[in-house]
Amino acid sequence: MKYISTRGKAPELTFEDAMLTGLARDGGLYVPAEIPVMSAEDIRALGGLSYEETAFRVMWPYLGETFTEDEFRACIARAYTGFGHAARAPMVQLEPNHFLLELFHGPTLAFKDFAMQLIGQLFQTALQKNGRKVTIVGATSGDTGSAAIEAFRGLDNVDVFILFPHGRVSEVQRRQMTTPADKNVHALAMDGDFDDCQARVKDMFNHFDFRDDVGLAGVNSINWARVLAQVVYYFTAAVSLGAPDRKVSFTVPTGNFGDIFAGYIARRMGLPIDKLIVATNQNDILHRCLSTGEYRPDGVTPSISPSMDIQVSSNFERALFDALGRDGAAVSQLMDEMKAGGFTVPQGGLQHLQELFLSGRCSEDETRETIRDMLAQTGELLCPHTAVAVKVARELRVADVPMVSLATAHPAKFPDAVEAASGVRPGLPPRMADLFDREERVTRVANDLDQIEALIRERRSA
Ligand SMILES: *Cc1c(COP(=O)(O)O)cnc(C)c1O
Repeated sequence: MKYISTRGKAPELTFEDAMLTGLARDGGLYVPAEIPVMSAEDIRALGGLSYEETAFRVMWPYLGETFTEDEFRACIARAYTGFGHAARAPMVQLEPNHFLLELFHGPTLAFKDFAMQLIGQLFQTALQKNGRKVTIVGATSGDTGSAAIEAFRGLDNVDVFILFPHGRVSEVQRRQMTTPADKNVHALAMDGDFDDCQARVKDMFNHFDFRDDVGLAGVNSINWARVLAQVVYYFTAAVSLGAPDRKVSFTVPTGNFGDIFAGYIARRMGLPIDKLIVATNQNDILHRCLSTGEYRPDGVTPSISPSMDIQVSSNFERALFDALGRDGAAVSQLMDEMKAGGFTVPQGGLQHLQELFLSGRCSEDETRETIRDMLAQTGELLCPHTAVAVKVARELRVADVPMVSLATAHPAKFPDAVEAASGVRPGLPPRMADLFDREERVTRVANDLDQIEALIRERRSA
């Protein structure tokens, strides 16, 4: 399996190199040259299997020669043992034909653990085999950083540096990043918002001397291996609701478009997904773009669902690449226009996107109202991101197609917002109850590329 860049100018890579590289050298994102398809029979055969076995069957065709079957199975097994639920991604029912897919049973209580825990194992296995060392640099609006740190802490051949927007992540998110004592973990609080953090990480990847000197590796949601790991739970959920013999729709609280893009890949693999619904908070650039074709960032307004406070939605480029007939030059042109303020998706491309993707927006008041209503109606306490999805799902779902809303974080990750909305303060699961007593370690940095690069050169041990 070969991986190609969405901008058409970077060399083709193997799975291993695409995974260790992250961003392509032409500024694009890696995607598989072709998407493997599972037959209806292959999909039916997933019924009743463990999460791990389903994960193996869904992902294996993408891996090429990087790992043996046994190595890959061992990585999957280790990745999910730390989850607090035997099903890994269990579902509960909210109302007739509307289900909640609980993706928050991992070690940092957000769906990002599904991909990050696996990537940690895959990196370690690959690096041990070829004797390489890498420096992981990531930007986070909160959950990616804690998931990355949890997945890579204590590994010998990896340093991990996480940039988060100072003062704009929840206390639980911050503490999950600043309290691990491992020497290879470096939490950096940057002045700015998430888009600024993400922009500095992209700058580092585009600064090839630095990139090569420190062996830069990316684990942000642009990393193909992360997208791939997330494809799995679309299969487990849809199969348990009757796929391949019944269509299922999903509503995904969306920021960087990584999670929902995994659903898109599942559909291209043959999973009968009817609609994929993008749910945004008040930072609704994706909703506006999917409705009108206009992609124009106009500044982030902080919300109570901070992991979706985004205007530059990186993985959307992968969907655009397909919508534009895999024309890398056309994608490059749109991305250049974006630097000058925004772009318009060409008519044919927009139609292509609208055939599968629907979208909706949820205001701050509606988010709080949904948390309150769902607690009263079902006894489920939702995190604010999940509430955004549930609100949009209820608006857009159709009666005869089961709807799955993705619960992307545990409510205890956002206790203040949840308590303000519902009057109930969600407690942390017992395995992390001492989080508030642990000592914090964090470095404050300016929004300044040179300063951040110097700090990374100095601190890394690899
Ligand atoms: C990251 C995150 C999202 C957004 O996911 P994307 O893949 O960036 O679209 C939604 N909810 C939570 C809780 C998250 O951590």
